[in-house]
Amino acid sequence: MTAENEGAAAPSNNGEQTTHNKTTNKVIKYITLGSETYNIHDIVSMKAPEGEKPYIAKILRFDVHDEKDKKKTSDKNNKKRQTDEEIENIADKVNVHVSWYYRPEESASGRKAFHGEYELFASDHTDWVKANTIESKIHVYTLADYQELESVNENAFFCRFSYKAATSEFKPDHVQVFCKCSMPYNPDLFMVECGECKEWYHPECINTSKEELVEKLKGDSEWFCDECVHKHKWAKTT
Ligand SMILES: [Zn+2]
Ligand SMILES: [Zn+2]
Repeated sequence: MTAENEGAAAPSNNGEQTTHNKTTNKVIKYITLGSETYNIHDIVSMKAPEGEKPYIAKILRFDVHDEKDKKKTSDKNNKKRQTDEEIENIADKVNVHVSWYYRPEESASGRKAFHGEYELFASDHTDWVKANTIESKIHVYTLADYQELESVNENAFFCRFSYKAATSEFKPDHVQVFCKCSMPYNPDLFMVECGECKEWYHPECINTSKEELVEKLKGDSEWFCDECVHKHKWAKTT
């Protein structure tokens, strides 16, 4: 199998242990860094230059360091590949092909008021990076799943847009808007739902505060927006 993949010019490696030879063409399905195992499709944070937030990326595949260069030259230069021995679990000899997640501020249009603090855009921008720049596993949820989380932490992100880095295009390019301010949903901002029209409002957009609304909503009472109150001429009995 090894010889087939490398072509007719592959070194014979007579007498060497076949386990080592096979390693060269082995598809690496996971790597182990410290106590953590990283698989293809895992989403990870990666070391960024000092002062910057960690980079976030999805692992697409693993490859042996310098493997690509060797392939290019292998026809002319049949050097033995003994240096590829024992590549498994040695982070600095493994490259990782990743697709980047962008933070809103890293996109061409920048961070908007409706972007959540833990929002990411799934981009089409890919790179090869060294496995030893991986810091830890993180989770990227859909917005719906993120909203359902009982508690959030710094390793929990959400993604509702994909982003084409070259053209700065977002998908979807339209999203539902809420409130009088016509803003897409930002999970970091408190909103209240009108029991009648089911529209959602930010407290500050209806001249109240979260505290006031929370107080009003104590004990099962529903909240109704001004429009609905006027439309139905409901008498406030309390
Ligand atoms: Zn609003
Ligand atoms: Zn209403």
